[in-house]
Amino acid sequence: MNFPSEILNIEHVLFSQYGDLKWWPAKTPDEVLIGAILTQNTTWKNVEKAIDNLASENLLDLGSLSNASREKISTLIKSSGFYNQKTERLLGISRKIYSEFGSLHNLSRQGMQFCIDYLGQMKGIGRETMDSILLYAMDFPRFVIDKYTIRFMTRYGLLQDHIDIEKLESIPDILNHDIWRLKNFHALIVELSKNFCRSEPLCKNCILNKNCKYYKDKSVP
Ligand code: SF4
Repeated sequence: MNFPSEILNIEHVLFSQYGDLKWWPAKTPDEVLIGAILTQNTTWKNVEKAIDNLASENLLDLGSLSNASREKISTLIKSSGFYNQKTERLLGISRKIYSEFGSLHNLSRQGMQFCIDYLGQMKGIGRETMDSILLYAMDFPRFVIDKYTIRFMTRYGLLQDHIDIEKLESIPDILNHDIWRLKNFHALIVELSKNFCRSEPLCKNCILNKNCKYYKDKSVP
């Protein structure tokens, strides 16, 4: 299986089916970062309530958030689960970025590699959260590697018996470093994973079953 051409084929099939999913649904980069922390270990539906609560108190920017009390934040984000831990993370991250750079925009002006190193040493920012912030909040050409992507690509036959980070990191090159395509491609994979490539996959009706290794192997009598 040729990795670059199959990625383009998958993008084509998924885009034909789902179109522009307009992900991430946030009004500002700060809101993306806050949502990326809140969505850890929970569904987006639970995050939406927390975002609405923070918006109602004008706390959806790093400056305001960094000055808010722990008690207030934890009450407002309760619906997202692990709220004490997430409160600490939100406060730690917002205070550091706000005090050292004044804004997320100023941080992003330091360049992608600087931001990778800077965000990577913060408590509460793992690979998936960092990729989401780099791509959706800072508009850097980054591919978001999450559990949906790994499950789908392994089944499809694009990843063999290990998670090949180098291959996955070549996806921005394959998509011509096009930020919109990178944003939408991740959203398309999530949509496929919700509709077909679930923990119990619905292969028979899946729009990608034609070239999928998992489906072909299962179909062999
Ligand atoms: S055919 Fe099955 S395993 Fe392959 S992508 Fe579709 S749902 Fe996933």
